[in-house]
Order: sequence, then structure tokens, then C-alpha cells
Amino acid sequence: MRRSQFLLATGAALGCLPRMARAGACSEDSGASIRVLLGRGMANRMDDCSFSFGTRTYRGTFASTADGEIVNTIPLEEYLYGVVPMEVPHSWPQATLQSQAILSRTFALARTNPARYYDVVASQGDQAYGGLDAEHPETSAAVSATGGQVLTFDGDQATVAYMSCCGGHTESAAEAWIGGSSAPYLRGVVCAYCADAPDFQWQRDIPLGSARNAFSDLWSIANEDLRSVQIMSADPSGRARTIRFSSSAGGFEVSGREFRRRLGAVAVRSLLIHSIQVDAAAASLTIEGSGRGHGVGLCQWGARALGAAGHRVPDILNFYFPGTALRNG
Ligand SMILES: [Zn+2]
Repeated sequence: MRRSQFLLATGAALGCLPRMARAGACSEDSGASIRVLLGRGMANRMDDCSFSFGTRTYRGTFASTADGEIVNTIPLEEYLYGVVPMEVPHSWPQATLQSQAILSRTFALARTNPARYYDVVASQGDQAYGGLDAEHPETSAAVSATGGQVLTFDGDQATVAYMSCCGGHTESAAEAWIGGSSAPYLRGVVCAYCADAPDFQWQRDIPLGSARNAFSDLWSIANEDLRSVQIMSADPSGRARTIRFSSSAGGFEVSGREFRRRLGAVAVRSLLIHSIQVDAAAASLTIEGSGRGHGVGLCQWGARALGAAGHRVPDILNFYFPGTALRNG
């Protein structure tokens, strides 16, 4: 969609001018701005520098598309005030919050795209963003303390990712995603620091009927005839590459990625799966695994432990992205 398709621009191009700066949502930030797709709904201007959308308030200005989508234009640093507290608890160590701020900034800059009518979406699809209501002094201090800093490799801005808990080994980007980067700093590391995470070890029961529906185009096995679901191969981090459903008459095989995509990220917290048990009597599958999320990049719970142990921001980032450096904006 071209920008000309905006119907109700409400000062989106104006930003918040320095002479209008005052306490609250206004700022004198004249740095890079970012456009955040908030979703469909009604937005109402509150003053020159803030507006409401749904039950939340946001800094910056907004515009509506012809389809009724609201796009928030906001200085990048102010956007980060509303991102970092949504991605990690504000009570975590300041070094962890600052590491997250640098990654969120680096990620957002990589997503800017003048050819599109927005740069990022305000959800886990890109980064969670809660606007003014989500802000907290601790996370805002982390954003300010790292103002403009981004992660680099060989002088170029690095490709970054992060997740809640790696389960003991982060994943290589090339294994996690089709076309994922094979950069040396994205190949996965052993992480001994996230054992406190709620999803470090998990178990989920999935009704066989649900699994059957998820694989209906492949599943010709009667429920009562399913013998086993086995991990046939795993990648170097231990994550499942191929999984086989077997019956006395045959079976079928799917990739680990497809297994998680079809059963959902809530049921299959990660692909670091230890076992899949078929319980014929209960008509269910019991899956046990470690970690939560795709596993690529910084492990947030691991970074929490490293921060609590007194490690500095460059050390935390270098642990999860070996060979990278920080650059001031
Ligand atoms: Zn970890």
C-alpha cells in the first residue's frame, strides 16, 4: 500500500516539534522515527504527542489506512520505551534490560522499509509494543543508557533475534528458518544459564484427535493403530529435524518445523523435544521438551542470570552473538 492511501493523516508528518516539548508524551527527540502497525480500530488524538487506541495510549502520532489500520509514527527511542518492558520484566537486572534494548533497537532498524506503509507490527510477529502504558522507569533507563547503540558484525549491523528460553543450547538461524542467516555469530551456543525459566523443562498432552486433525492430509492411521511418534533426526543443538508417526501398516514423516507449526507453539514450546509418548488408553500424545521459542539469538532467561551474576552488557551480547561488537548511533 502506498502512503498516499492514508485517509486520515493526523499530523503524522509533523512529529513532536522541540518547541512543543513538555512533560509527558512529548519529547525533543529528533532522531530516526519508526512506523508501527497497531492493528484495526479507532484511534483518538489526546494532544500533540499522544493518542489512544483501544484501551492503551501511545506516544507520537497516528494515521489511518483505507482499511482502517492504525499506524503509529514515533521516534525510535520512544518506541523502545514501549517495547523493552513488553519483552522482559522491568524487575530484571539493568544489564539484561540494556542488552534487550540494544537488540530491540537493532531489530527495529533492520525492519524499516520505506517501500511499505509500516516498518514493524506491534506484536510478537516483530516485537511486542505496549505504548505509554507499558513504560517503566527501569526499562526506559535501559533504553536511554544505550541510546542509539546497535549490535554489529564486521562493521555491519548484525542480524539479531531473541527468545524466552533456549533450553540449554541456542539454535542456529540456518536450522531454524528457511533462508536463515548462516553468519558465524548465529550458529548457536551452549547456554547453562536459563534453568530458572518456567519453560526450561515442559510437558504437554495433546489429544490424538487434535493431532489427527493437524495432520489430516498425511494421517491414514487409525488412532488405535498408532504405535509411536519418534524423533528420527536432530540438528547439532538437539532440536528435532524429522519426526515419524508409525503404525503397523506404515506411517508418515514430517519436519520438526512442520510438526511445531501444525500443532502450535503453545503445545510444542520448542523443538528441543526429549520424548513423544503415545498413550493409547488416554488417546493422547505426551511431549516433553526444553525451552520456549525458536531458540535463535539471545536467551532472555539466560541473559537474566548473566546480568544477575554481574556480567556487563557487551559480555552478555558477545556470549549469545560471538564476535559481534557494539556501535554507538
Ligand atoms: Zn538459555
